[in-house]
Amino acid sequence: MTSTPFANPVAAAARAQIISEALPYIRILRGQTIVIKYGGAAMTDENLKAAVMGDIALLHYVGVKVIVVHGGGPEISAMCKQIGIEPQFVQGMRVTDEATMRVTEMVLGQIGKSIALLLGNHGAPAVGVSGKDGNLLRAKKFVGDADWGLVGEIENVEGQLLNALAREGFVPVVTPVAPGHNGETFNINADLAASSIASAVGAIKVLLLTDIAGILRDVNDKESLIATLSADEAELLIGQGIVAKGMIPKVRCCVDAVRNGVERAHIVDGRASHAILTELFSDSGCGTMITNGKVRSQNDE
Ligand code: ADP
Ligand code: MG
Repeated sequence: MTSTPFANPVAAAARAQIISEALPYIRILRGQTIVIKYGGAAMTDENLKAAVMGDIALLHYVGVKVIVVHGGGPEISAMCKQIGIEPQFVQGMRVTDEATMRVTEMVLGQIGKSIALLLGNHGAPAVGVSGKDGNLLRAKKFVGDADWGLVGEIENVEGQLLNALAREGFVPVVTPVAPGHNGETFNINADLAASSIASAVGAIKVLLLTDIAGILRDVNDKESLIATLSADEAELLIGQGIVAKGMIPKVRCCVDAVRNGVERAHIVDGRASHAILTELFSDSGCGTMITNGKVRSQNDE
């Protein structure tokens, strides 16, 4: 006879207790929109990938409208190398010439469709869309103190397509490329796409999955995790140099999101199994939460 967890009445009761503890969180999140930036280890490790798909399917089943925005930097670099284009980075950001952009759009498009298929297999029917579909995104060239080619910044987001898909019970999976005004296609940082989309669709939360515990006071000490902070405090950490490198744009995206109506922005450790459910369905969470300073308690009506 095969044994299931429910064969043991103590385990079954403990499981029921855990599920019932999720009720207050489900009550708050049901009917709300959550944007999840999916990338890093959670996208490459097969076990983590299956756990993320299961978490998103569960959210879908309890009535949360999930929008996924995916990354894919390592896959783009691998394909570029395969066809003889050496990836170039300036200040940690990929330089995107026209050939690289064509590869980027193809590779990311494939990733988006494969995530949609996987979610469908897990019971959450999903649709891969890019920033070019339904006027979702409009971008212009990102101008900084170097030239990154076709790296774009978002000028406009139109949420109708995502809202229509969500209303009909589909999980949109967004590939972060966007059209410009002159026929160009821009490569958009996935954190940026996620936070802009979260603001535009009135999401309650944006979750950025990454490969570190969250914002650390000392990047070499995982015990120094900062569990919650306000947008002002987060900006201070950038100014002080405590938040550096790839964490800077990530934190800026969180700050922008909460200043533009998103209630909470979370930087979540995507290396932890079921990090999404841990973050959403427990008080302790799993990473760093950034708020605009005015946040109601999870148990408030
Ligand atoms: P992603 O691939 O998810 O976009 P990035 O590599 O771009 O992640 O950014 C996360 C990185 O930022 C971390 O791996 C870490 O090396 C760096 N970092 C710098 N300062 C901090 C900090 N205070 N807390 C956490 N990570 C930090
Ligand atoms: Mg990054």
